[in-house]
Amino acid sequence: MKKISPENLPHLDILFEYLADAVYLIDPETSDIVWCNRAAHEDLGFEHNEVLHHSVLSLQKDVIGTAQWKEIAQVIYQQSPYTFIGQHIHKSGGEIPVEVITTHFKFQEEDFFLSVARNMSKRVALEKEIMDHSQNIWFALNDAADGIWDWEISTGKVYFSPQLKAMLGYGPDEMDPHISTWSENIHPDDRVHIEKVLNEHLHGLRAKYDVEYRLKNRNGHYIWVHDRGKVCSRDEHGSPTHAVGMVQNITDQKYMQFQLEALAANDVLTNLPNRREGEHQARLQVALSKRNEQPLCLAIIDLDHFKNINDLFGHQKGDDVLIFVANLFKKTLRSTDLIYRWGGEEFVLIFPNTDAKHAEKIAHKMHTAFREAKWEGIGVPPMTFSMGISCYPPIEADFDTLVKYADTAVYLAKEQGRNQTVFSDKEQT
Ligand code: GH3
Ligand code: MG
Ligand code: MG
Repeated sequence: MKKISPENLPHLDILFEYLADAVYLIDPETSDIVWCNRAAHEDLGFEHNEVLHHSVLSLQKDVIGTAQWKEIAQVIYQQSPYTFIGQHIHKSGGEIPVEVITTHFKFQEEDFFLSVARNMSKRVALEKEIMDHSQNIWFALNDAADGIWDWEISTGKVYFSPQLKAMLGYGPDEMDPHISTWSENIHPDDRVHIEKVLNEHLHGLRAKYDVEYRLKNRNGHYIWVHDRGKVCSRDEHGSPTHAVGMVQNITDQKYMQFQLEALAANDVLTNLPNRREGEHQARLQVALSKRNEQPLCLAIIDLDHFKNINDLFGHQKGDDVLIFVANLFKKTLRSTDLIYRWGGEEFVLIFPNTDAKHAEKIAHKMHTAFREAKWEGIGVPPMTFSMGISCYPPIEADFDTLVKYADTAVYLAKEQGRNQTVFSDKEQT
């Protein structure tokens, strides 16, 4: 351990000699350098005597002539320390970026300026590299995406890249650079979802803002976009101040996806036959029953208060419930029964070769299965359903007629308090 006391410290001159920053003592009157340390001349490639007693102006690129020096000296007297960012000239003619901090002091009634100059070459090079680099990234992103945005959250100002404008059919000088330009053009059906995702991201509840939605283009048509972004800076309170993102035009992919979905026989969510496919099979079953003179029952199921699940637990949970319910139905029913998703939280069932008495037993089994299901496993309160059943005979063996009667019956089941099955009475309708 070194013993440090004022007596055994190195002489101050030596400390200055080893200081990495250049130090100049200047006569404010003449601008002459009356003293300087080693870095002051070595950094510029001069010998000590080539700098000492020369005007500080000889080292400067930016200050020319004594008149300008006098003005600067005036400022230094008024605001000490004074920071100057400029260029020093190397002996070889090259320029060195420097930051010079000058203080004024008086010693034995004489005025002096003490300037400390730091060579900024490395820092400037580093900044340039970062700048060049970020510019490359910016260009690459712009190329990879169909557009880029840069949102200053506090002011609502948004930079829309020319590509993004072109994607929406606008020229580079069009589109008001404001967040409202974007939000006003979102499809009304997509707005709530986007706002939710965006707010969750802004409040730190979601790692990324990542959504697919419809955006109106210049001629009023909607295009599908995939929009991804991230908050890139926050203030001292953690509030977001800046976000950037990129947008991809996915209209073609979306339409292809819709076509495929329409062609597919199964509902994407529940994997039950979808309405188109289910109805096709149901009509065949009804026709078969008619031909064979076998009884058949058709049921419509509507989940009770399903909207509450979405409202209380979110749409995702609602989807989980629909998948769970679809599996519950499949487990409870016979393999010859047909069940398909009619839409939303409604399902249609066909019980071939089944009369009303038998259908009643099935209904009972289904309500029991719902009562005993492990709802806590998906984190929702126990659910119930209402069901309306129409049977051939007595109703004629026609799909549309059976649906009409079953629909009325399910309506009655709801009216009578839900969580029950009502059989259609031919006279009811
Ligand atoms: P009721 O007992 O009268 O039938 O009440 P309910 O809330 O079930 O009735 P309503 O028909 O008003 O609500 C059905 C809800 O189902 C509304 C809709 O947002 C939701 N829904 C429809 N399809 C889907 C879906 O695919 N996923 C989710 N999560 N919700 C859906
Ligand atoms: Mg419904
Ligand atoms: Mg319902």
